[in-house]
Amino acid sequence: MEELYRTVAQLLVSDKQCVALTGAGISAESGIPTFRSKGGLWEKYDPVVYASIEVFNQDPSKYWTIRGDFIRNYDNYEPNAAHYALAELEKMGIVRHVITQNIDGLHKKAGSRKVAELHGSLRETYCLSCGKEYLAPNVPDGTPPACDCGGVLKPNTVLFGEQLPRDALETAYQESSTCKTMLVIGTSAVVQPAASLPSLAKQKGAAVIEVNPQKSFPAADYYLEEKAGIVMSMILNEVKKIQDT
Ligand code: NAD
Ligand code: ZN
Repeated sequence: MEELYRTVAQLLVSDKQCVALTGAGISAESGIPTFRSKGGLWEKYDPVVYASIEVFNQDPSKYWTIRGDFIRNYDNYEPNAAHYALAELEKMGIVRHVITQNIDGLHKKAGSRKVAELHGSLRETYCLSCGKEYLAPNVPDGTPPACDCGGVLKPNTVLFGEQLPRDALETAYQESSTCKTMLVIGTSAVVQPAASLPSLAKQKGAAVIEVNPQKSFPAADYYLEEKAGIVMSMILNEVKKIQDT
């Protein structure tokens, strides 16, 4: 395994143009549950009922109930070693961009600057009536928070049935088709379009490195079967060793 970390670190240092694609798994060690894993949120709630735009428009309390169960207070969650390692690798000129399906904002909190948030961010909400923007409020009991004007607040996240933000999507395709290496971290790679990005990168000649305790991208060139925090700390250490010599 150590050998494998060194090989991957070597590749990142020599190729530099690395893009990271991340999913819920990278935030698991920050205490945020993934949706699809055992005991995850989707076992408790039907996503089509609780997190679709159609239902939100009819009865926003359904969304705010699940939201209260998922992340009660955004500020309680901190980035972990994997988020920090990606931010540091960006500063070192090795990671060029992070593409994330996560809505927790932890990449930016860790210091990553180039981040495409494909599914938006939980941190922001806006009023459906007047458009006023607010930081996400706490919603312990699922009561839909209201704007000063009385309108309902909608999270700035992509619900089922909604389009993905165009800018983030364009960046994701652009970065995936031009990177030299892609780190695929903590995603089960079943949600489109993120699921197709590792194949796109590979088709265009990039080496794909998967970091996940459970393999999800069979075509990966390198597979690091461990938790993201452990793997990314090891890789960062190896990169530093190579750069120091
Ligand atoms: P997912 O499809 O990205 O699956 C989670 C993956 O993470 C699995 O493959 C699992 O094996 C892996 N994993 C678990 N622990 C890990 C660890 N410590 N290190 C590395 N990998 C680990 O995510 P999902 O839960 O099915 O959710 C799908 C969508 O739901 C996301 O695209 C996102 O929009 C949303 N979501 C976001 C968050 C968040 O913002 N933190 C959390 C849950 C779900
Ligand atoms: Zn309003």
